[in-house]
Amino acid sequence: MTHIKKISKSKNNLSRALEVSLKSRKITTPFFMPDATRASVRGITNSRLDETGIRAMVVNTYHLFLQPKMDLIKKAGGVHKFMNWKKPLLSDSGGYQVYSLIHKNPKLGKITEDGAVFRSVIDGSKHLLTPELAIEVQFDLGVDMMVVLDDPRPNNIEKKIMDESVERTVRWAKRCKIEFEKQIEKRNILEEKRPLLFGVVQGGLHTDLREKCANGLKEIGFDGYGFGGRHLDEDDVFLEQIIKDTANYIPDDALKFALGIGTPQDIARCFAAGWDMFDCVIPTREGRHSRIFKWKDKGVIFENDSKDFYETVNISNSRFKEAFSPIDENCDCYACANHTNTYIHHLFRAKEPLGAQLVTIHNLRFYMELMEELGKSV
Ligand SMILES: [Zn+2]
Repeated sequence: MTHIKKISKSKNNLSRALEVSLKSRKITTPFFMPDATRASVRGITNSRLDETGIRAMVVNTYHLFLQPKMDLIKKAGGVHKFMNWKKPLLSDSGGYQVYSLIHKNPKLGKITEDGAVFRSVIDGSKHLLTPELAIEVQFDLGVDMMVVLDDPRPNNIEKKIMDESVERTVRWAKRCKIEFEKQIEKRNILEEKRPLLFGVVQGGLHTDLREKCANGLKEIGFDGYGFGGRHLDEDDVFLEQIIKDTANYIPDDALKFALGIGTPQDIARCFAAGWDMFDCVIPTREGRHSRIFKWKDKGVIFENDSKDFYETVNISNSRFKEAFSPIDENCDCYACANHTNTYIHHLFRAKEPLGAQLVTIHNLRFYMELMEELGKSV
């Protein structure tokens, strides 16, 4: 069976809408996944998350592997049951956190051809994360979409080292695919109930390396392909050409996953370049810091490469002290339906955690509305 079906394609740019059959349910692109890092979007219950229109979330393999550990999640019947979330979940490979840990403090581990050896920051225990283990753990989590272990490097390293990272990424992707097929067979998973597997295209700022990586991965064959590495340059300028080229190197019948992206503006630009799915900490992290996303003009999302379609405001600012209106009168989220700027401003000033919850809910609803607007454009 095919898990990915094209519904429509834009006449104005490279964006499209796909129907994706996952084990939990069908979903359509574009979609944005908030990060439920430790099987929770901080401070928000599932029913409030559900009300925002979220279609899928990301859980973090590295964090769950260390706490509460896989034995417990297996006993719970998988991560869906553990957290009682019925919609689709994607897990990452765990690699990104391990590499960040090792790059920050080389004493905490090392990377070899076999995998990454690292020490738990929780209890000091030693682990070896191999491509095979990354896949097995994600099967134990029981997610709908999983990602291969790759070898991410900072964009600014020399080209020769980036080339080595690309070659290792492809070799590890091959090992992941072999393990993926083994696990499907071992666990007797039917084709329609199997998770989707994503490769990750590395190559930093080098178009030729991005192409080389994509070609290597295509040969192995994946349901989807992610954009690896940072999507901004050292001055935080959006890497427009690299984003466009990488999308072009990925087969059109596969999902294009803009990993870790991003601001509403960056998402709109990636979508126009052909990327289908997104995940990022921005709406929730900003929400916890009292920053609110608000629409200015939905009509100019794709115009002039500008940010004019939205703004961010800080509700802790004194101008909201006596603003007895909702954050956004046109928003149908729980926060806007029930509370005023004044009240939420007070919650942040008084350090009451409900403030962060309400703004996070509003921001997630804003991101879902953005997905609806993008979806309407194709
Ligand atoms: Zn709202």
